[in-house]
Amino acid sequence: MPQSATHPARPSARPRVVILGASLAGLLTAAALSRHTDVVLVDRDPLDEELTSPRRGVPQSRHTHGLLVSGSRAMEALLPGLLDEVVARGAILGDVIGGSQWVMRGAPMLSFPSTLIGVLCTRTLLESQVRRRVRSLPGVELLGEHDIVALVTDDASRRVVGARLVPRTGPDAGIETVLAADLVVDATGRGSRLSRWFAELGYDLPEVTEVAASVGYATRVFHDERGVLDGTDVIVVSTDPQTGRSGAAARIEGGRWTVTVAQANGAAPPIDLPEFTAFVDSLPAPELGRLVRACQPDGTGEVYRFPSSRWVRYERLRRRPLGVLAVGDAVCSFNPVYGQGMSSASLQAAAVRDLVEECVAARGGDVRAALDDLASRAPAVQARVVSAPWALATGPDRRLPGMPRKPLPERLLDRYVDRVIEVARHDAPVTVAFMEVLNLLRPPQSLLAPGIARRVLGARAHRAPVQQCVAPELVRTTAPR
Ligand SMILES: Cc1cc2nc3c(=O)[nH]c(=O)nc-3n(C[C@H](O)[C@H](O)[C@H](O)COP(=O)(O)OP(=O)(O)OC[C@H]3O[C@@H](n4cnc5c(N)ncnc54)[C@H](O)[C@@H]3O)c2cc1C
Repeated sequence: MPQSATHPARPSARPRVVILGASLAGLLTAAALSRHTDVVLVDRDPLDEELTSPRRGVPQSRHTHGLLVSGSRAMEALLPGLLDEVVARGAILGDVIGGSQWVMRGAPMLSFPSTLIGVLCTRTLLESQVRRRVRSLPGVELLGEHDIVALVTDDASRRVVGARLVPRTGPDAGIETVLAADLVVDATGRGSRLSRWFAELGYDLPEVTEVAASVGYATRVFHDERGVLDGTDVIVVSTDPQTGRSGAAARIEGGRWTVTVAQANGAAPPIDLPEFTAFVDSLPAPELGRLVRACQPDGTGEVYRFPSSRWVRYERLRRRPLGVLAVGDAVCSFNPVYGQGMSSASLQAAAVRDLVEECVAARGGDVRAALDDLASRAPAVQARVVSAPWALATGPDRRLPGMPRKPLPERLLDRYVDRVIEVARHDAPVTVAFMEVLNLLRPPQSLLAPGIARRVLGARAHRAPVQQCVAPELVRTTAPR
């Protein structure tokens, strides 16, 4: 491959962070770091134009993307004013209890006004506004249409000092170039090659914990000219443990609804309108069928297959090169039916911002030294951030038919959660506590707090636990070499 070394190190300038991948995790991490460093965000997609439609590098953006309450708050904290800006562009702020219809285990949950507000819009609109804001931050540069091909290290492979890129267009197209960095952040999503690069540099491969999901997704968009479901902004039907079917509908900008149906452990749901409608009708939420019939379809729809929730355990590596860390889906990607990925990326970015502030203060303002501290401490902090959404996504998936039987303590917890759901159908404080957990505002253990446990265990409602079968290959942890 032809090579030309450009973008040399600039010892006198502010430290430079190079972020690989300019999607939500990359952009939000840039916002977290730009107070102390220059940032260059690199992506294979063009970044100079306004984002108006789903782009190639993020094919999932054609599907329903809800932003949880925690994610909304974290994004607003990283980029103050962002929520007003997306609302001005058509996003809806939805009350996750009052403006929503939740159907769990086949029966509706309580709905009443609350202060738990999430954001509803296309992922394209959200990323577009986040990108606009990040682009305007001092010291941030967006470098689109470049393939990221490898890391650059010092001679001893102890420190990452940059990244190798290949421009896709322009006079230098195809000529490899090196972008020097004081810190490289991998935000290239689920397809990240960071762990393989570590192995090529002589480090251990990190453990990967994986829980099979095998979810097929089908999404269609509808124009709602008549206000078919006034007062409702979201409908969520959680996965039926027997059939593996689930669905969701959300209002989005432009007077439209996005409707997604999903099938665990089986064929993807059909996308042609009559069969799609029949699938919708099989879910225990008649409003979904009413919506699909009363509204005008927009486009032909999209399908997507998602194999497994996947967590790369960088925090468990005994040795890592200096000067590099991963964020977002590159660390952990979740079965999308739980709607957590963007919130996890936002919470990880917020944790990076807090950590860098702490490290800079501890180093008396020496930002380069602080970035080294950040890279070595971030994986443990991120693991704490990711552990709650991981438990919430993989816990129910590991109860689906065909999964290995869980150990007794987990089965007892599952029975307790079944009871929480039953009690939440008629008990408002339990509903709020449960929704706070689902929205990553409180850890799952908070449902065991005495005030909630008394209500849950003292109530009468109860249902039989979900049946479990055995198939050990569906849950696995890949040990390091
Ligand atoms: C079907 C589906 C539905 C989802 N629904 C929801 C939802 O409702 N709510 C929610 O919060 N989350 C949802 N998610 C998850 C969400 O899409 C991601 O968590 C979110 O996009 C953050 O991802 P990221 O920025 O880490 O990576 P990505 O968004 O995957 O971005 C990776 C970026 O890296 C770039 N890139 C990768 N490799 C290279 C390379 N070699 N060279 C140059 N550039 C490269 C890509 O172009 C891209 O821009 C869903 C996911 C799927 C698959």
